[in-house]
Amino acid sequence: MATSVKLNTGAQIPAVGLGTWKSPTGKVTEAVKAAISAGYRHIDGAFVYQNEAEVGEGVQAMIKDGVVKREELFMVSKLWCTFHEKSLVRGACEKTLSDLKLDYLDLYLIHWPMGFKAGSELFPLDSEGETISDNTSFVDTWEAMEELVDAGLVKAIGVSNFNKEQIEAVLNKPGLKYKPANNQIECHPYMNQEKLINYCHSQGISVTAYSPLGSPDRPWAKPDDPSLLDDPNIKAIAEKHKKTSAQVLIRFQIQRNVIVIPKSITPQRIQENFQVFDFELSEEEMKTVLGFNRNWRVCPMQWSTKHKDFPFIVNS
Ligand code: NDP
Repeated sequence: MATSVKLNTGAQIPAVGLGTWKSPTGKVTEAVKAAISAGYRHIDGAFVYQNEAEVGEGVQAMIKDGVVKREELFMVSKLWCTFHEKSLVRGACEKTLSDLKLDYLDLYLIHWPMGFKAGSELFPLDSEGETISDNTSFVDTWEAMEELVDAGLVKAIGVSNFNKEQIEAVLNKPGLKYKPANNQIECHPYMNQEKLINYCHSQGISVTAYSPLGSPDRPWAKPDDPSLLDDPNIKAIAEKHKKTSAQVLIRFQIQRNVIVIPKSITPQRIQENFQVFDFELSEEEMKTVLGFNRNWRVCPMQWSTKHKDFPFIVNS
């Protein structure tokens, strides 16, 4: 079983990475160090997580201690929605690089297809609580992303939360210089994304599964929401393999050639989530897990449903 996936740039992206959304600034440095010690070589971050400086501290400490070299790591970050204007893209990327204390990223993604009004507020809202658009087009933003590759600031560029039509719009852009290397999307057995993954793979675009454990620490979680980690059907498969539900949820993605980025700040879980290369789900089990789909979203981005570039079918 491959432990990495080849991008359309020729680079390899490690199949399991560490997620860092919601990882508090006081904990994420140690989490990153624990992950690198456990064998992770891929760290997923974003400007909007507001912890990139502390992620960078963890990375730099491990490089300084000789545990890992920069070129052995695969560092991912994302352009936030308030920086979609072409003139703002390079500065946003440079801010992330300086926070991480790096001189290049391995992959930089447009975090969402929607552009928000530029300014200091990350979520500028109107009087109805809807995010305020900046009227940019993500196809124009893509051109500024391409310039980052040419400037040597990033090795590869991609998108996140883009639907099929939005990816097509990028691929059909006149004068397209670089195809997206990756689409990072919500993906787990309750939102298995079968169609979008097949489409991306057919276009040579790799897919990364976010919230693979169902994001139990998402701020808007309600007590009655479904819980993947407590799902008895997933537990039953885990018991059969003497593994945990989290390990089954992670393994499920790797076996479909999907990259996966579970988040944890708990050293023992960080290790557990990487112990997924020593067992295999049968074809039957893969089919069974695919059958749990219920179109349930962890990240519905409920403040932007009226945005012209909102990517999801509302209420699905
Ligand atoms: P996950 O599905 O990774 O779940 C994280 C939660 O699961 C945390 O509460 C963590 O607890 C807990 N957990 C981790 N491992 C285990 C385990 N082995 N057993 C039990 N519980 C466990 O959620 P995220 O939403 O954070 O998604 C992962 C990453 O994907 C993000 O951190 C981010 O990097 C990325 N992402 C990208 C998005 C995008 O728009 N592109 C949107 C959402 C996420 P604890 O930390 O306390 O151990």
